[in-house]
Formats: sequence, structure tokens, C-alpha cells
Amino acid sequence: MRRDLLKRKTTVLIISVIMVLCSVTFAYATDESAQEPTDPKAIEKNISEQKHFALFQIDALVDMGYTYDEISKMSLDQVNSILTKDLNAEELASYNAAITAIKNGTSPDAILATPPAGYTHVAVVPDGGGTDEWFHPNVNTTESTISGIVTDAKAGARKIFNNYSLNYPDIRYSYYICGEWGEDPGYENWCHEGVDLKNAVSPTAAVYSPISGVVSKSSTSGKYVNIYNSSLGITMNFQHLNNVDGTGKLLEGQPVSAGQFLGNQNTTDGHVHVQVCTHASCTSVHSGRDLTLVCIKPYQYIK
Ligand SMILES: [Zn+2]
Ligand SMILES: [Zn+2]
Repeated sequence: MRRDLLKRKTTVLIISVIMVLCSVTFAYATDESAQEPTDPKAIEKNISEQKHFALFQIDALVDMGYTYDEISKMSLDQVNSILTKDLNAEELASYNAAITAIKNGTSPDAILATPPAGYTHVAVVPDGGGTDEWFHPNVNTTESTISGIVTDAKAGARKIFNNYSLNYPDIRYSYYICGEWGEDPGYENWCHEGVDLKNAVSPTAAVYSPISGVVSKSSTSGKYVNIYNSSLGITMNFQHLNNVDGTGKLLEGQPVSAGQFLGNQNTTDGHVHVQVCTHASCTSVHSGRDLTLVCIKPYQYIK
């Protein structure tokens, strides 16, 4: 009997030790598998190695507002089609030359153009804003101001979509942030005139005006609208919308109140572009395909 009891006790002890060992091993393994890189540059390198995308392609997609998760699910064909969609012949040649150079091993890493003189560098833009980004000297964007700018852009995105519970990546405020230079091949002459706000949850989300004013330009096809506010001394332009009522509620010369419906985010562009210039009753839609920045920082007016 005693021998039996001892045997049983020993067995229980052995089983217990095994169980403890197993749980320790499991905890260790869980810990190991949770160690995915959190540093954006390491994530980009990972995607580049796994998917055979060039680093500049990943950088350009991030600048356009795609998350690392979305990029890692794309095919190379999709990447090329997104990145070349808006390029003219000259820009496309630069893009293709970079791809060829990488294939030939001339430049195995990212091929980034030399930044224009006076542009300021930010190593990491928070909330998926990209790595090694460059900003026009006029917008004074630095390592010390970038987090405040991103916070303001987020406040603006919540306001124009009238949804205060959404966070990145459900709402995004990127493409190029105002004054951001398109440093990747094909985009060397691009300097973004405004900020791109995306509602990633609701593709056709309604967009509301963050300011009051008077309509100085509106599209009859429903795509864009300009609103001039004389006391602020600015014209705010919204692009990539649908359903702008340019022949009715948003007729040129008509007043607009803060919070008024402007239109819907369109699914082709997938984001709303907002830019601010200091021209009174401006009727232009300033382009952004020029290193001369016409517009000013929009953040204080949208948040
Ligand atoms: Zn834009
Ligand atoms: Zn203007």
C-alpha cells in the first residue's frame, strides 16, 4: 500500500513538473511569436523581402495612406497599377528606370531622389505617415512639430467626417501631408498642396465643412468646392468628392455654414483632399505637381 502511495505521489509530482515546464515553454513561445517588428523601417524591410517590392514602392504606398497590413496583401501588379495611375509619360519613365535599376542590381535598396534645397526631414511620421519624409520649407515641419501636426490632422479628419470616435487606421490623414515632397521615383516633382483625409470604414462617408464662408467655386459634376472665409482670410478647397450640389445648395456666391454637408468621399480616390490658400474668393484648384507650394498649412482651420 505504502509503495503504491509513494508511486502515485511520484507520478503526480512528475506530471506537475511536466505541466510547469510546458506552460513555461508555451509562455516563452508566445512571447517569441509576438515579437514582430514595430519599427516602421524594419516592417518595410520585412515586406520588401517577403513580397519582392522595392522599398521606394512601399514608401510611396505609405505616403498615399495605405497601411503596412494592406500593402503586405497586395500583388506586384496591384502595386504598379496604383503607383503609376496618375503619372505622366516623363514621370512613368523615371518610375520604370528605378525598377530596371533595381532588377539590374545597380541599386538594390530604395532609390530616393535628392531632396530639393531647404526641405526639412522627418525620420518617422506618426500614425502610418511614413519614414524619411521631406517637407517644403514654408510649412516648417520638423521632428518637434510633426506629432502636433498629426494630432491636428486627426482632429480635422474627425470633424469633416463628423465622427469623433474613429482613430487611425479607420481614419487616415496622409497621402502627402501639406508641403510633403514626393521623394520616390516618378513623384520627384510633386509637392502636396494639402492634407488627404480618409474615412477607411465608410467609403462614401459624408463630408461636412469645418468652416463657414461663401462658395467661390463649385463643380457642376459634383467633384470639388471652394469656400472663402473673409475673416480668416482663406479659401478652403475640397477635392475628390461626389454629390457636391454645385447647381443648388453650393451655388457660387451662396453662404455655407460650419458643419454644412458638402458631398461624399468618392470611392475612386478613396480620400478627401483639403487645401487652404490665402487668395480671396479663390476659384483655382491648385495642383501640387510643382515644387512651389502655393497653399499654406491647413491644420489650424480644419480642426
Ligand atoms: Zn491630396
Ligand atoms: Zn488659391
